[in-house]
Amino acid sequence: MSMFSDMPVDVGVIYEGERIRRPDMHLEFGGLDVPMKFELVRARTIDEVKDGSMKIIGPDIKDLKEEGSYPLGIFIEVAGKQVEPDLEGVIERRIHAYCNYVEGLMHLNQRYDIWIRLSKKSFRKGLNSFEILGKILVRLFKSELPIIERIQITFITDPPTVEKMLSEARQIYDARDARARGLKDEEVDSFYGCILCQSFAPTHVCVITPQRYANCGAISWFDGRASARIDPKGPVFRIERGEMLDSLRGEFSGVNEAAKEKTLGEVTRVYLYAAFGFPHTSCGCFEATAFYIPEVEGFGIVQRDFVGPTVNGLPFSTMADSTAGGRQIDGFHGLSIEYMRSPKFLQADGGWERIAWIPSKLKERVKDFIPKELVEKIATENDVKNVDELKTFLQAKDHPLVERWVKAPVEAVAEVKMEPQTMQVTQLAGLPVASTGAGTFKIILKDAKITARKLIIKAAEKKG
Ligand code: SF4
Repeated sequence: MSMFSDMPVDVGVIYEGERIRRPDMHLEFGGLDVPMKFELVRARTIDEVKDGSMKIIGPDIKDLKEEGSYPLGIFIEVAGKQVEPDLEGVIERRIHAYCNYVEGLMHLNQRYDIWIRLSKKSFRKGLNSFEILGKILVRLFKSELPIIERIQITFITDPPTVEKMLSEARQIYDARDARARGLKDEEVDSFYGCILCQSFAPTHVCVITPQRYANCGAISWFDGRASARIDPKGPVFRIERGEMLDSLRGEFSGVNEAAKEKTLGEVTRVYLYAAFGFPHTSCGCFEATAFYIPEVEGFGIVQRDFVGPTVNGLPFSTMADSTAGGRQIDGFHGLSIEYMRSPKFLQADGGWERIAWIPSKLKERVKDFIPKELVEKIATENDVKNVDELKTFLQAKDHPLVERWVKAPVEAVAEVKMEPQTMQVTQLAGLPVASTGAGTFKIILKDAKITARKLIIKAAEKKG
């Protein structure tokens, strides 16, 4: 008999990756429309935790109006002989996985950015209280992570309490992040990989190094190390770093081997510090995404909670769709905010010298890590509204990107003879290109730098 047979809904890995669209949703917690939300795990001493106890501060699920969006805090306290503060981050990340095991429950993102939807169907079946969700989580945590001897959970929906606890949680996240700073990738023999998000992106592997925090911003190198030690069969695993093949781009033989194995040959090379070539894959949980702006030869970066269009006219959600899914997309790069504080941040592409635009809120968060002379040269939504204005801004501020524009222009002209239906050009430098269908046409690439691993020229077959 299943350990969940007394629950009103089914629980199992088969529900991971289940999407709940708005029309099917009973209600949601967090997400874009709700600024106050968080999940937090703390390690306690054994006496501080009453095993299995549950507390709800604020209205329960059944007391909240259907189809609404609400604040939520999930606060979990754990204890056990082997439970140490180092493990808080990885135990916390399991909330994402375990909530997604629950039929009709969708959990996205992490930390201060969670988004949980409950389906109408599961609500009708009886999943109408945090008591039930809490019981499921307690059983999953204790069976999957036996080091947890005691666990207690508090769900908070009362807005002032969520707000207060969120501000405390932010300080705890910041302290965790700061811990991994200072250690260099070159100084360690092991990196860590995580495949927790393969249920959403089957070819995605996060490579977590001291200087490249996990994309979700929830797992540091220290967290990865602790997780692989206590749960060697879990989603976080050790990667023997191996030979450094390219120090600028961050290519390591051990990382390539691990990526190949964990993606079943789909991804064979990974550049850890580059957004072109073989960039690190992205699942969908990244905190922010870097996107190439060809008109200025630089990048914009936008974080998940930025509302409205970015400087290229597209919102975060559109850019996230282009980035996610476990693919390696030139010029689209999912990343954590902590990685933006790393000296290796997009190192191969020029690092901060290549950043043209970021939202003001994000700029404020990482300001101390932007080289001083660049802070005022990077535009925000308060400075410019579109790419033309961005160009003018960068020129006026003498941003290092401007130097790239004045280099001798290169005009490459390619003439392509096409047979009907034999070729469609849909992507160029990551951007959609309209297809003319057939015939002869010219592609003019102004100021282009072109690299190709292979050029294949084939004689077109004569028809008829
Ligand atoms: S984003 Fe990466 S590190 Fe974070 S849970 Fe997903 S796979 Fe793991």
